[in-house]
Amino acid sequence: MPNETANSWESRAAASSFYGFTDLPTVAERGTVVVSGGHGPYVTDVHGRDYLDANSGLWNMVAGFDHPGLTRAAQEQYERLPGYHAFFGRMSDRTVELSEKLIEVSPYESGRVFYTNSGSEANDTLVKMLWFLNAQEGRPERRKILTRINGYHGVTVASASMTGKPYNSVFGLPLPGFVHLSCPHYWREGRPGESEADYVARLAQELEEVIAREGAETIAAFVAEPVMGAGGCIVPPEGYFDAILPILRAHDIAVVSDEVICGFGRTGARWGCEGYGFTPDAIISSKNLTAGYFPMGAVILGPEMADRLHRASEAIEEFPHGFTASGHPVGCAVALKAIEVILDGADGEPPLIDNVRHLIPAFEAGLARLAEHPHIGEWRGRGLMGALEAVADKAEKRPFPGHLSVSERIANACTDAGLICRPLGQSVVLCPPFIMTDAQMQEMFDKLEGALDRVF
Ligand code: PLP
Repeated sequence: MPNETANSWESRAAASSFYGFTDLPTVAERGTVVVSGGHGPYVTDVHGRDYLDANSGLWNMVAGFDHPGLTRAAQEQYERLPGYHAFFGRMSDRTVELSEKLIEVSPYESGRVFYTNSGSEANDTLVKMLWFLNAQEGRPERRKILTRINGYHGVTVASASMTGKPYNSVFGLPLPGFVHLSCPHYWREGRPGESEADYVARLAQELEEVIAREGAETIAAFVAEPVMGAGGCIVPPEGYFDAILPILRAHDIAVVSDEVICGFGRTGARWGCEGYGFTPDAIISSKNLTAGYFPMGAVILGPEMADRLHRASEAIEEFPHGFTASGHPVGCAVALKAIEVILDGADGEPPLIDNVRHLIPAFEAGLARLAEHPHIGEWRGRGLMGALEAVADKAEKRPFPGHLSVSERIANACTDAGLICRPLGQSVVLCPPFIMTDAQMQEMFDKLEGALDRVF
């Protein structure tokens, strides 16, 4: 490997660690990057080289890599109470404060929060809540979960079954009862001559047909990311949620918004669902919840689901589910600070969501400019999440063939130039940290443009 001499960090990483979600032939060919520090939106490798992280870590390091308020919040809580759980009628004061704050900033007047360590666990928890709730209410057959092709909801067994990615077939997933609807991507999936409105009507029709086929009485919930993230930053067509939500409501199917990426300002609104004008029955949160400074997830239940779950649990004395670190006080202290930093403004600084809104026009303009490239078929984006989709033929939208996708070659050229971005399918995805300056955004697009020139 090019950067691996004997006993280097890179060779030690390759010999000792397993990479998930990594193209191993590419790592074998190009070596790896071992990171040991970070400042603002940059990470620094063990050789002192900086990379502008247009990926925000994994969509989560929205406040950058050295936010003093967040590290202080963790440090202070470690000194007060370094760990605890939320079981057996006990929980930490920080956990109570965070639940109150989450409900305050949620679309709900009241509700309840259940804590996990990750987004995957939050989705698995939601599924168990729905199964339990429906069984306790005398509707045990109402278990199926509707999600979408390309939707990403995690890697644990239920959340991987929710995820609409073909790679899960290597595990024999999805489990029975997880049903995937079409991916709402007009540019790729719309038929020749079909208007966006007609395409949306077709998706609504598909939903009706799936509900009729499966039986409405067997479907517990529809779970969706407002904008698909790991599916390639897929922005739904105009009117999509307005068309499908009434159908779900008419069949008494719960609507859940997976806000692991979209929540806390990524799309420019507080919640992705808020931006699309709907209130789900529950929200799945993680990532930005702690700005990546602590592993944590949460299921935020709106008032109706919260009451129903509480009643069903009381009936058998408990809801028999939870994780050792559920409601970890350090995680809660960090999340309280992250919410303040992002939504309210902290320590004399304006809220980061203001900077997201400030950056959106330049972000969209940068994507639109690069989409003029003859091998970029589409740019799409919402808020500070965006993608450029590479095509071999622009008019026919024909993708490039081959094992190493062209998006991976672009991302590799970016890494060589000191920019981290994410290849997803045929797209290069950008989700910059909320703290980016105008100059850093310019640097991001300049480096990406240089990478496109080197690849094509
Ligand atoms: N849901 C969405 C929308 C995600 O993007 C992710 C992770 O990327 C998850 C759930 C799973 O979260 P985690 O990786 O923390 O398990």
